[in-house]
Amino acid sequence: MSRKTDRTKISLTDENSISLMKRVVGELVRPYTLRLVLAGFCMVLVAAATALSAWLMDPMVNKIFIEKDLSVLWLVAGAVVATFFVKSVATYAQEVMIGYVGQRVVADTQARLYRHLINLDLGLFQDRHSGTLISHFTFDINTMRNAVANALVGLGRDSLSVIFLVAVMFYQEWLLACITFVVAPLSAYPIRQLGKRMRRVSAQTQEEMGSMTTLLTQGFQGIRMIKSYGLEEHETGRVQQLVERIFGLNYKGIRVKAAPQPIIDFLGGVAVAAVILYGGARVIEGQTSAGAFFSFIAATLMAYQPLRALGKINTNLQEGLAAAQRVFALLDRQPTIRTAPEAKALPRAAGAVEFSNVRFSYASGDESEQGAALNDVSFEAPSGRVTALVGPSGAGKSTVFSMIPRFYDPGSGEVRVNGVDIRTVTLESLRDTLAIVSQDVVLFDDTVINNIRFGRLGASDEEVRAAARAAAADEFISALPNGYETVIGEQGTKLSGGQRQRLAIARAILKDAPILLLDEATSALDTESERQIQNALKDLMTGRTTLVIAHRLSTIQHADVIHVFDAGKVVESGTHEALLEKEGLYAHLHGLQFGPADTVVRAGQ
Ligand code: ATP
Repeated sequence: MSRKTDRTKISLTDENSISLMKRVVGELVRPYTLRLVLAGFCMVLVAAATALSAWLMDPMVNKIFIEKDLSVLWLVAGAVVATFFVKSVATYAQEVMIGYVGQRVVADTQARLYRHLINLDLGLFQDRHSGTLISHFTFDINTMRNAVANALVGLGRDSLSVIFLVAVMFYQEWLLACITFVVAPLSAYPIRQLGKRMRRVSAQTQEEMGSMTTLLTQGFQGIRMIKSYGLEEHETGRVQQLVERIFGLNYKGIRVKAAPQPIIDFLGGVAVAAVILYGGARVIEGQTSAGAFFSFIAATLMAYQPLRALGKINTNLQEGLAAAQRVFALLDRQPTIRTAPEAKALPRAAGAVEFSNVRFSYASGDESEQGAALNDVSFEAPSGRVTALVGPSGAGKSTVFSMIPRFYDPGSGEVRVNGVDIRTVTLESLRDTLAIVSQDVVLFDDTVINNIRFGRLGASDEEVRAAARAAAADEFISALPNGYETVIGEQGTKLSGGQRQRLAIARAILKDAPILLLDEATSALDTESERQIQNALKDLMTGRTTLVIAHRLSTIQHADVIHVFDAGKVVESGTHEALLEKEGLYAHLHGLQFGPADTVVRAGQ
């Protein structure tokens, strides 16, 4: 159970921050421009109300406290209520609208990523563990949303508030404002450095989160194996180590994220002290009014909170960009196996399946003979007949099956179905022509009836039942607690191996495809079920082109033609009798299964 960690290296330079941001905005945020404009308007209101409340200190101090003018009392109180009312309503509306855009970014990206991934080559799913892929959907996309929402609020509301408050400061005391803002650039450098560090920490965290999901899915799926080998402690140790590594990274993230605030707080304190010194002296000297001074101080203090939020934006944004980079890297992957632009539909007929000088290696670029899973393979599965593929383990039989639906394309050579190169027809029509029953039956955590219906989504309940009857599955399904409506658990864990296989066969029967690929289709059955299934399969095979992989040679003795594979090559072809007479690999394998005496007797028959 080796853990395949996905260690896709991410470039951590921040030169491409701008282009990444442009991409996030252009592809994910742009569709919601109208809402953003409305949210922007609300942000202007919030910022203006904030600034107005700072400015109101001026009449409050001068008119009420110094001049003791009663008429202004009500006016100022009314203005304060109105200002805060506008601010509250606008804040709510803005938060709801930005929240909507953030959640839309999540939903749109998840749907888009799934559609994209499901159409990518099989190779991707073998290179990366499903846990890593799932973590892109959950962790990465949510980190992205967080950054988008925070950046929008920060760049809109917070920066506008700062601008408006600064305007009040300049209006009241321009010289003082200049002094205050001397300190602002001092904070820029550390905040920028912290942003860079955050991006690095975040990218590492996201990778480890991927490993975590991988380890957990592996553990839960392999629970039987873990228990039977007594690996509980070992696995718990591995999870614990990873959890600690993630803790370490998250803690580092917290330290980096928390750092800009004290920097801004301290510099803010310095600025306020400067204001008190210089401004206070001017008030004492009578050069400025107490109202203007307090209004200035209020604006400075109020600018604090949005400035602090702005300080956090960069770290937050970098975290989101690291996530966006990972998501875009997947979205940018293009499938190599796809329908050619000028492809036609493959006629749905039980034509021949031919391999012509097919060479294929799982490691792309490995052209060596040793590296090849298929090495110059040529054979024909004639139209409407049963063709068996046999050979030792690892000889390449399943690989041949993978090439017919184009799960992989040959490195060289050609695969033809119904006389045409399968790369020249649409993938949809090709796969529609084939029904596959493989060794590992894939079942979904759904009802029995729906699981069979995956064979043909439009099939009626009666058609599904007919297919189940034909696959000798009706009896056991009817005995299940809810019959056809029974939910069968993740990967059909509530069914036996033989039952699972019969569902897969029913699915293939329902699909009614003219070409059948049966990979050890009856391997998990007892003798009685196998007999029933063999009968069902015999009916099913009639008039169809069938390719069978069977390890038990007894099941394919009546095949019209048998191709014997060894080390990625076809070494012998012929009927059962002809191959036995040849006394080559087939006769040897047969001897191993039935004993040499039996082989001789049969060969002589
Ligand atoms: P079996 O009867 O045991 O199922 P097989 O004849 O079907 O074996 P294949 O599964 O086609 O053999 O494997 C042929 C070769 O390709 C083997 O050497 C195997 O290790 C290799 N192989 C199979 N699948 C992959 C894969 N996804 N990635 C890399 N190598 C693979």
